[in-house]
Amino acid sequence: MSSKPRILVLGAGYAGMMTTKRLTQQLKPEEADIILVNKHNYHYQTTWLHEVAAGTIDPNRARIMISDVIDTKRVQIVYDSVTEIKPQEQRVMMENGELGYDYLVISLGFETATFGIPGIAEHAWTIENIENSKAIYEHMESQFIRYASGEDDDEKLLNILIGGSGFTGIEFVAEVIEKVPELCRKYEISEEKVRVLNVEAAPTILPGFDEELVEYAKSRLENRGVEFRIGTKIQECTPDSFIVGEDKEEIKAGTVVWTGGVQANSIVGEAGFELTKGKVNAREDLRAPGFDNVFVIGDCSWVWDYENDKPYPVNAQSAIQEAGTCASNLKALLHGENTSRFVFDNKGVVASLGKGDAIGNILDDKKLYGKTARAMKNVIDNRYLFLVGGPKLILKKGKVRFF
Ligand code: FAD
Ligand code: NAD
Repeated sequence: MSSKPRILVLGAGYAGMMTTKRLTQQLKPEEADIILVNKHNYHYQTTWLHEVAAGTIDPNRARIMISDVIDTKRVQIVYDSVTEIKPQEQRVMMENGELGYDYLVISLGFETATFGIPGIAEHAWTIENIENSKAIYEHMESQFIRYASGEDDDEKLLNILIGGSGFTGIEFVAEVIEKVPELCRKYEISEEKVRVLNVEAAPTILPGFDEELVEYAKSRLENRGVEFRIGTKIQECTPDSFIVGEDKEEIKAGTVVWTGGVQANSIVGEAGFELTKGKVNAREDLRAPGFDNVFVIGDCSWVWDYENDKPYPVNAQSAIQEAGTCASNLKALLHGENTSRFVFDNKGVVASLGKGDAIGNILDDKKLYGKTARAMKNVIDNRYLFLVGGPKLILKKGKVRFF
């Protein structure tokens, strides 16, 4: 048994992968044992899941084998599912074993928030990981097959209904509307028969985002055939519909997808960490309240932006940056030094509107549209691939063709 301190990283998403990568760069082998626990032997690009769900990229393109990019001589990788965290006992339970730790990094990502809306958990498809994203596309295609084969002649089978117009909903809608002509050609179905509907409770799509860019996105998607129902709250979900609005209108569809919001992986709340709006309020150095040896980063936590008196955005960009601070704070703790406060360097937001289109608000409020924004989105994606796997990974997985 090693006498070195043991750092246990849970989850190999953006936050966990980058923390592990940075730890191998910042710590000498004799300073700590590093263990990374993940459900699968692959890491996936969560930011590409909407493309997997719409069938516009192959699921394998979004997967990266963890052992291809993490130094397995420095890191022990455990492929298992975490079932419980016991912070008081400094132990983590998994489906096939358990592990103790000296330092813990909780980076288990997000899960869908249903807000208690009846039927969502039971009936709606959600974009959470590779497997369920892949299942959405397979289901959508199977509905086209059922209709084309005459097994069911109800045109509503071809409707694709998406609940929630945040970034996930909008990026998904844009991919779906791009995929529809291909599916129609393949199954000899007239495009007019297919409806892509997006329902949003707020009075606008992408609530809170730059109005001009929102208008651009809405009109571009409407021109391609998307039907928006804004200011329309989803009250209930059935196997083939959303019930919406005060008058409980039923919108029927063969494919019903919920993109109405996310919360921290429920293992975090079950471990006893106090949650605020579904996530842990991390301390300014990213440690969990009450535990000096536990960091909670990425989609599992909020980190407070004291300058603007609100939480920093919770996205891949912040998860990657938090990983850097988390790794250097772990090093500081091992060296008996003070930890540092996390400060987010906001490079802005770019959202895809399909293959050749996007919107972005970057750096000092610079607005980007269309192909320029799309090229920027690809640069961001490729930068991450570079950080995690160097130029080889960009060549293998990168989005080098911009349009
Ligand atoms: P995740 O990426 O969710 O990773 C969590 C990891 O933990 C996964 O590998 C998972 O397999 C593993 N795991 C989960 N449970 C267990 C368990 N019980 N045991 C073991 N392992 C487990 N943000 C942006 O900044 N830009 C974008 O363009 C963007 N696009 C997005 C598109 C979509 C469709 C979605 C859904 C989100 C997007 N986001 C984007 C948000 C971004 O993806 C998340 O903020 C980011 O993935 C959070 O990183 P994370 O490491 O905390 O979690
Ligand atoms: P979200 O919370 O940002 O959006 C959910 C949307 O669903 C909101 O617009 C909300 O008003 C709507 N909604 C909630 N309840 C509803 C109801 N009952 N009826 C109708 N509409 C309802 O969630 P998301 O889009 O999944 O995004 C999750 C996180 O991932 C966010 O932090 C987001 O910024 C990030 N993300 C970023 C990008 C990007 O940067 N390109 C892409 C995808 C996601």
